[in-house]
Amino acid sequence: MTDWAGCLAKGRGRQLLAWARAAARDTMARLQPTQDRFMRRTPAALLALMLAGASSAVALEGPAPAAPGATVATSPAAPAKPRVVIVATGGTIAGAGADAANSATYQAAKVPVDKLIAAVPAIANVADVRGEQAFQIASESFTNAQLVDLAKKVSALVKRDDVDGVVITHGTDTVEETAYFLDLVVKTDKPIVMVASMRPSTAISADGALNLLDAVTVAGAKDARAKGVLLTMNDEIQAGRDTTKRVNIKPSAFFSQWGPLGMVVEGKTYWFRAPVKRHGTTSEFDIDSIDALPEVAIVYGSGNMHPEAYTSAVAGGAKAIVHAGTGNGSVAGYLVDTLKDIRAKGVQIIRSSRVGDGFVLRNAEQPDDKYDWVVAHDLNPQKAKILAAVALTKPRDAKDLQRIFWEY
Ligand code: ASP
Repeated sequence: MTDWAGCLAKGRGRQLLAWARAAARDTMARLQPTQDRFMRRTPAALLALMLAGASSAVALEGPAPAAPGATVATSPAAPAKPRVVIVATGGTIAGAGADAANSATYQAAKVPVDKLIAAVPAIANVADVRGEQAFQIASESFTNAQLVDLAKKVSALVKRDDVDGVVITHGTDTVEETAYFLDLVVKTDKPIVMVASMRPSTAISADGALNLLDAVTVAGAKDARAKGVLLTMNDEIQAGRDTTKRVNIKPSAFFSQWGPLGMVVEGKTYWFRAPVKRHGTTSEFDIDSIDALPEVAIVYGSGNMHPEAYTSAVAGGAKAIVHAGTGNGSVAGYLVDTLKDIRAKGVQIIRSSRVGDGFVLRNAEQPDDKYDWVVAHDLNPQKAKILAAVALTKPRDAKDLQRIFWEY
């Protein structure tokens, strides 16, 4: 028998807690029917029970007795499981093919959210979930209007007391854009978790079911709070800001050059790093005061470019052009005057790179200060497009736009 009074006197908190846990395990084995309720108690509450000599089922059935100074979960109405809303938008995770062997030939956005949830009964062990069908589309068809609509929906959900986290099922093609957009404009610390799949639900070894279970696990995890919008696929927890689709055919399709934030394995989260860029509650942007996004164009850099690629974007109403330049966001010498003219007309020029990894250095390949251009930092062109659109919902000069590209 452990001398708990001695432990207390010597301040051996850890030893005492270990003893309390061992005793709790013992008690639980004897009191199988009430095990679930017992497990929900905090270590402090378990300790309180032990100290009070509580060893009967009666004590376990009632509220935990409070020890002086102990933090006890007192509310009998406290939910047993986290409450997670699954907002479905379509994509391959809701896709269906003609045959189980069709892993790549299928129609995206076919299966409704309730069927997706019903197909993964293990979700019920992890969280209390309900589904909402926002859209039923392949993600390449997302428009700015749908992005705004989805963000407003998610913003309203996370404000509710009966919602602990949100999962969004999405196509893989543009999930990285939607994730970053929500990361910037939804002001919350509650987990928002994007999830997708590379194989349709009807395929052999479909990856959607486990990805969805993992996403619900992460959305219900307290340690997933305040980490920005996340993407859960292939056992990995990626930062929505950083992750990008790198492979168009394998389940291991998503990658971040800075590495995943963590992993989710058999219902447990494991974290290895945290985001440092502004997001959620630390963001200056709020979807509740954004109703539309300005046009931003991406022009892909290569050899032998034509100025019309840029001037036609301006004619189409672009308020900014993301130049997906070669190497360090380079601009061909014969295009520099075109881009300077465009900037002089008030359209922002943002130098990103088509390379994928690394980050564009300011004033290196081009004199950005002199030309009043902006660099996209480590954002790939499609992420730079999202940040520019959000930033330019208000008029601002290139200096302030550059500040935003450093901070987000
Ligand atoms: N084109 C599909 C989509 O983005 C691809 C996928 O979901 O994997 O909706």
